[in-house]
Amino acid sequence: MVKPGVRRLLIATLLMAIQALQPGGAQSQLPAMGDGADMSAGAERQIGDRIVRELYRDPDYLEDAILDEYVLGIWQALLVAARARGELAPELEERFAWTVLLGRDGSVNAFALPGGYLGLHLGLIGVVNSRDELASVLAHELAHVTQRHISRLMTQQNRQTPLMIGTLILAALAASKNPEMANAVLTGGQALAAQNQLNFSRDMEREADRIGFGVMTQAGFEARGYVSMFEKLQQASRLNDNGSFPYLRSHPLTTERIGDMQARIPLAAGGSGPQEPTMQHAMLAARARVLSYPGVDLLRAWANEPEQGAFATLSPPRRAAVLYAAALSAERLRDHGRATALSRRLLALTATNPDATRQARLLAIDIALAANNLGFATSLMEPVAADATMLRPEMLQLAHIRVREGRPELAVDPLQTWVSKYPKDAPAWQALAVAYRAQNQLLRAIRAEGEVQMARMDYAGAVDRFKAARALSARGSLEAADHIEASIIDTRLRLAESRLREQALQR
Ligand SMILES: [Zn+2]
Repeated sequence: MVKPGVRRLLIATLLMAIQALQPGGAQSQLPAMGDGADMSAGAERQIGDRIVRELYRDPDYLEDAILDEYVLGIWQALLVAARARGELAPELEERFAWTVLLGRDGSVNAFALPGGYLGLHLGLIGVVNSRDELASVLAHELAHVTQRHISRLMTQQNRQTPLMIGTLILAALAASKNPEMANAVLTGGQALAAQNQLNFSRDMEREADRIGFGVMTQAGFEARGYVSMFEKLQQASRLNDNGSFPYLRSHPLTTERIGDMQARIPLAAGGSGPQEPTMQHAMLAARARVLSYPGVDLLRAWANEPEQGAFATLSPPRRAAVLYAAALSAERLRDHGRATALSRRLLALTATNPDATRQARLLAIDIALAANNLGFATSLMEPVAADATMLRPEMLQLAHIRVREGRPELAVDPLQTWVSKYPKDAPAWQALAVAYRAQNQLLRAIRAEGEVQMARMDYAGAVDRFKAARALSARGSLEAADHIEASIIDTRLRLAESRLREQALQR
């Protein structure tokens, strides 16, 4: 089965490739690279932006407040440790995006992209046993970025234009999702060449292991997470890799890598073997599995799992994971009654563990909202609704509740404060647009929609929205506050237009 996202990505990729191959095209305007010199951080970021703009439009790209928060918490801790160890050069820190993008894909994969972007498939979150294991993969990929491995790889391709490199990377990504489709479109040879040219060398892999290990342990994660992740990959490579572990193909477990790892960790320290997951981790891994397009049959099986005899024999974290998967699966199947009942059981099971309770509550509120049970959602929200230090998932949920209650004005203030602090938070801008529309503040709503496009680097879309806002403000008689808004819109429009021109020059 070919997913629409893959097809679209490949078509876009092909178009870009064809443009790049046309003789005497606009490629002479691209920043020069090659001559053996390392690519500048700015040039690398430009290539990364180009790739990520495509990924943001891919239907497989996932914005999920709950999983984003979990991954970002690990990622930030690793960045702090990398900085403290001197692995993060100030110029890189300033120029790169340091952004993690989640993909709905159920395969086990993580990959560093140019410019400080990192791709992470839900399949990987779904199979790791602990935060430490997830941190080990992120730390390894982070090391590829801080050591400029990507720029070295790209510099080796010094006869390729940055555009072509972006194309090759997109092709390799598409191929890792669906090799057959990539082969059919790109002809086998080209897809294979793309993959091979972009693989890191054995030395780079060993360096990423060494530095990643240092960074993750300094960040306070348990060393045995790195070891048990290795063991997990080893096990998968012993069983036939059936294509569900693309990470294994780009990261072959050479005897050197395994030897290095064993030398780094004396058996006595921490021991080995799989870690028992925390309740919170088990629940979030379950969330990742359910959100990765598992198909209706699996959703039905998961929704029924708490009724099976084996359920009672499981440890509390595993029971929490089964209930979480069951509740979310039932919700996906639009069985609101069952989803609500399961979410209540989950709340009861997690009652003594604050992290797990919070996850159970976030899920129960989403389910209550989907079931149109606004009263239950509000009562669940009550203990946190007055909290001034509210976290992002709660803030977005509460905004949603306020709009549904017909009190959108209460949603606006916290969201405005938030986006002034985090202006690239597209979902927060989207929530703000919804709240403004509910108040009939069209000018502000359309501007917020423009900011959503800006955050996703869709500058044509942003220009379209900002122009619509300007036309609206030219038509009506504005109140004083709207004059300020209108002048902000002019400034934003000029910026979006200049970004769009830069983009056109890069083609
Ligand atoms: Zn690697």
